[in-house]
Amino acid sequence: MAGLARSVLRHAVRRTPTHLRRLRLGRAAATFTFDDCPASAASAGAEILEARDARGTFYVAGGLCGRIENGKPVLDAETVRALHQSGHEIGCHTFSHRAVPGLSRGDLEAEIARNGHFLRNVADGLEPVSFAYPYGELSLAAKFALKRRFVACRGVRNGVNRGWVDLGQLRVVDLFGTALDAIRIDTALRTALASNGWIIFYTHDVEDRPTRFGCAPQVLEAALARVLELGFEVGTVAATLRRAGLLADERARPPLRPSSPATA
Ligand SMILES: [Zn+2]
Repeated sequence: MAGLARSVLRHAVRRTPTHLRRLRLGRAAATFTFDDCPASAASAGAEILEARDARGTFYVAGGLCGRIENGKPVLDAETVRALHQSGHEIGCHTFSHRAVPGLSRGDLEAEIARNGHFLRNVADGLEPVSFAYPYGELSLAAKFALKRRFVACRGVRNGVNRGWVDLGQLRVVDLFGTALDAIRIDTALRTALASNGWIIFYTHDVEDRPTRFGCAPQVLEAALARVLELGFEVGTVAATLRRAGLLADERARPPLRPSSPATA
């Protein structure tokens, strides 16, 4: 029972909005996001987007950069800089890629500050406006803490962002190249078109033999071609928030460094 109670509670937490805003877009939007990010996301992934004059959002965990994760090389700091300079958006993950529910308030602040420091060293003025929860795991306390730092946080809960959206947990449609994807994506596209909604695709590596959290280049190409053909506006998380009037409205947030001594 304890396990069941915990599971119900986790489910409820995932659904509790903390940052509701009305999403008003004149036209349906699509964003392509990459987590962690394997080197192939920055090479094949970025190239596919750029070939159609589109840009994506890359959620970087500084502590993973230049390392091998799940058997795949992760992009290095130089590549993060190149992506930023090419107009892609760099978003924030925790520095060590630790899930946020297991972190004290102080540890969470330290993770974010450390990643902020890493990203500022990569490029002057690089201050992410959005965050992605590692593993999609979150807690209410973390949602409230991160709300002070970021305009929006992206989870891994499936769905189209439309109407009243929780900026504390933007929804996604995963792009992992499974057979189920085609049906789910088609349903999401129709929902988004009918409501001027926002589809945020997410994946990890982009290669011919992807991990189960990544996709083949053809899958990314096909999804991009489809949204363009249907008239979606393709842009980064920040660009779409701006277009919806949700970025300009925000007061300036503190930079990603500890503003006060961390407390537990
Ligand atoms: Zn991640």
